[in-house]
Amino acid sequence: MSVAGLALAIVLATSGRAQEPPDTLMYHVAVYSADRHLSVEARLTTAAGSVVLAAPARSGAAGTAVAGFAATDDRGGPLSVQRTGSAYVIERAPAGAIRFRYRLDFNDSVSSGSTASGLDSARLYAVTRSLFVAPDPVLSRKTGRPYPVIRVRFVLPEGWRLVANWDSAGPELRPRSGDDFTDATIAAAADYRLYRGRVGDATYTLAVRGQRGFSDSALAELVGQALARGAEAFGPVPAPRVIFISDAGRKGRTSGSLQGLSSIGLLWEPGELLERSRSHDTFHETLHLWFGGAMEAERWWTEGATDYFAARLYAEWRNDPRELAALCYESLANYGRIPHRTSLTMTSESRERPGGDNTVRLVYRKGMLAGLLLDAAIRRATRGRSNLDDVARRLLSMAAGRLSRRVTEEEMREETVRIGGRPAADEWARVVAGTSLISAAQVAAALQTVTGAELPPPASDKARPKILSNTPNP
Ligand SMILES: [Zn+2]
Repeated sequence: MSVAGLALAIVLATSGRAQEPPDTLMYHVAVYSADRHLSVEARLTTAAGSVVLAAPARSGAAGTAVAGFAATDDRGGPLSVQRTGSAYVIERAPAGAIRFRYRLDFNDSVSSGSTASGLDSARLYAVTRSLFVAPDPVLSRKTGRPYPVIRVRFVLPEGWRLVANWDSAGPELRPRSGDDFTDATIAAAADYRLYRGRVGDATYTLAVRGQRGFSDSALAELVGQALARGAEAFGPVPAPRVIFISDAGRKGRTSGSLQGLSSIGLLWEPGELLERSRSHDTFHETLHLWFGGAMEAERWWTEGATDYFAARLYAEWRNDPRELAALCYESLANYGRIPHRTSLTMTSESRERPGGDNTVRLVYRKGMLAGLLLDAAIRRATRGRSNLDDVARRLLSMAAGRLSRRVTEEEMREETVRIGGRPAADEWARVVAGTSLISAAQVAAALQTVTGAELPPPASDKARPKILSNTPNP
């Protein structure tokens, strides 16, 4: 059972409504690819009263727009609908069942990134919260009302097959919870190539379409390694089934993200090479299953420490510590260009300056270096008996016992100091709680501690800044 599924089960068990059969919500989704829209019809069983349905975001980022929303009773009698800021409210719904329908238009033929949706005559790529008008799982938890049992049936253009992370019973898809339903990625096309594998008890599927400068087998090996090495370092893959969807996106745009707890979208430009940067991205997105999926924390950990772990595990797989060094020095070069690097901590940055390119965000660039420096401090303090992975495993086990999956920065500090002692406490004070400048010499010393190899900074600071758009949505 996924963490979200477990959370829902606990809510169900404690809500006092568990004896009542849950409502059911069936969707019928027809995909009109040539005309870039979906036609969605739904039937919801419900008690009498107002029914509140969350709408996909109206902003352009999601890539879709709802049109012509209308609701009726089960026999077709019209019901009054109010549009509020982010929801449709069906008023005075009768007990029993109601129906609603809408048209969903796509702004983009090709998704503008892994967190957006696009549809054209060849394929659909979508994040599900931009497709469905549906009860909000968060609201459902707050009110203690069980989320309806969801069934989804897609009618696809001739020859297309659906790639989804939901359980399937024949042509029907069965999301396992409200979160599983709204926080997922789906895709469909005639030409997805599917590869399957297993790491421990978890299975995974890699769905690839389009051509890039690398083979499917290279990507499949990379994904398998990222999962296996993540599991070795941090414990079993946190989701029973993981899906990776890799499609060719727009030229000049590269994007990866974890949606919900178990679906990873990788949209790369058509000529992309699977070299250090994209391999590192793939490890990074995969490790979000642990940090961002199984565990929520301050952004510098979720993004920056994850970036460090991704770089280290990738370099370990390649058996070349220079890969880790190159990625760390690239982050250092970017960090050196961030104007607020000695005036804001990473945590205050994420409070005060949301948005912005990843290259100028301390939570990514300094966060990665903080991961390296803390790892080295713990290894020095314990003569190599412990490292930052031990802290991570401890934090993951704390998060596993919590509905919020969240660990606080103070808990992170306590565990780091408990395992790494005074040297780790000093490093934490300098780079996490403080704003001391991080130098190339410190990075070189930490790299030597972690890898055992001498890895001096590159002779010139000509490394181009790394431009990524990997917006996780845990
Ligand atoms: Zn990320």
